[in-house]
Amino acid sequence: MSSYDVDLFVIGGGSGGVRAARIAAGHGARVMLAEEYRMGGTCVIRGCVPKKLYVYASRFADDFADAEGYGWTIPEKPTFDWTRLVEAKEREISRLSQIYANNLGKAGVEIVQSRAEIMDANTVRLVSQDRRVTAGTILVATGGTPVLEPSIPGLELAISSNELFDLPEFPKRLLVIGGGYIGVEFASLFARLGSNVTIIFRGENVLRGFDDDLREGLRTELAHAGIRILAGALPTGIAQTTDGRRVSFSNGETGVFDQILVATGRRPHTKGLGLEAAGVETDALGAVKVDAFARTNVPSIYAVGDVTNRVNLTPVAIREGHAFADNVFGGKDVAVVHAGIPTAVFTTPEIGTVGLSEQEARKIFNIVDIYSASFRPMKATLSGRQEKTLMKIVVDGETDQVLGVHILGHDAGEMAQLLGISVKLGAKKADFDATMAVHPTAAEELVTMRTRSARYEREVLDAGPGAAIAEA
Ligand code: NDP
Repeated sequence: MSSYDVDLFVIGGGSGGVRAARIAAGHGARVMLAEEYRMGGTCVIRGCVPKKLYVYASRFADDFADAEGYGWTIPEKPTFDWTRLVEAKEREISRLSQIYANNLGKAGVEIVQSRAEIMDANTVRLVSQDRRVTAGTILVATGGTPVLEPSIPGLELAISSNELFDLPEFPKRLLVIGGGYIGVEFASLFARLGSNVTIIFRGENVLRGFDDDLREGLRTELAHAGIRILAGALPTGIAQTTDGRRVSFSNGETGVFDQILVATGRRPHTKGLGLEAAGVETDALGAVKVDAFARTNVPSIYAVGDVTNRVNLTPVAIREGHAFADNVFGGKDVAVVHAGIPTAVFTTPEIGTVGLSEQEARKIFNIVDIYSASFRPMKATLSGRQEKTLMKIVVDGETDQVLGVHILGHDAGEMAQLLGISVKLGAKKADFDATMAVHPTAAEELVTMRTRSARYEREVLDAGPGAAIAEA
């Protein structure tokens, strides 16, 4: 038995912290976990889970509209009650939050509802109780927090995704600032729930870093949903008027909105955590610097999840938390691999993607083959909905290995999960071709794309005078 109060002190009851605490306790460690807000963290309380529930709510709008083409008559125009949705969501996340707490309790973890701050390499202070706890190991799993940028006059009149879920009134006119994951997801879902949505982003298109064809396809779908798109522009000021919040834009336009969502990224949640007191190194954004085993420069302090600002996704934090606990308390030696992570963006239609985009592949590989299909999903035929599904396979032209698969369409997130396995196994395009189709599905396109859409050959850099400079 060590002389410390506990073997492990976990700061943060989100995806990474909860998993780490439960697994460590399973290995026999005495574990205490502090959470200052609600058990479950961003994902469960004000992120992935409530967002997906709201996405489901929003898609009924399309279903009601599509039903007519399939012979249904909807007697009255369906109406939507925001307050009922918020209440239903609240019940579900409270249930999940309780399950998290129960599971930790069953595993023998002591949960403390308090902010915790690090005092030194082995001591934590529980702020609400003004109590000190010593620990053999401290795990920092405090996640991230929204960044409110750009700093323009009147920005205090805007909100982050934290507040959007529980607005007392439904925003009939919504401005979304930022074209990343959060921006496009909320623009898409609020437009379907009935908001008049404008999205503004500084780049030329949404979702920087995703495959360009998907970005273009999604932008078209956002426009089809009636969303006003202001690309290459920024808000320059916000002022309260009797009619709402008046926003001026850098392109000279203005607009009046009920709510303004700032979705310009998230930062590691490390302010005031006491990392300096313990000598833990952070980067310029405040992210805790760790190695592949979640180790900081202080031997007794580890960090997992968004607070390390590597790949800020829930499943990654869970995997990191699990590996940490197995390594430190279970005698294992697991490094988490951050490559080839499948991911989804829950717009409608949604995006599912794994591996390299065409643009990334062409920077790395000598020959890149592209197979792509763009088609009207079967459901849209009778409904008459104007919608395109896009599928794209990026292949190493020299080895036939599939480098990336990108989908914009219904259930793309579900497909991405399974494609993630194929890509991880190093599947070749020939393996896709040899797989029998499931008919009639959209996914069958993935195994029936026989004709190459494009081949890109990288020119040799050192081919001598006059040689074209390779793109990469
Ligand atoms: P993102 O980093 O995805 O997007 C940020 C957006 O804001 C980009 O359009 C960016 O533009 C823009 N931006 C950044 N800084 C400024 C600035 N100073 N002024 C104006 N515009 C700016 O962040 P999100 O907030 O959308 O999401 C945060 C993270 O949450 C994601 O990275 C993701 O890890 C996670 N998440 C995952 C989801 C999922 O898996 N489905 C869903 C929601 C969130 P530019 O591109 O030009 O930099």
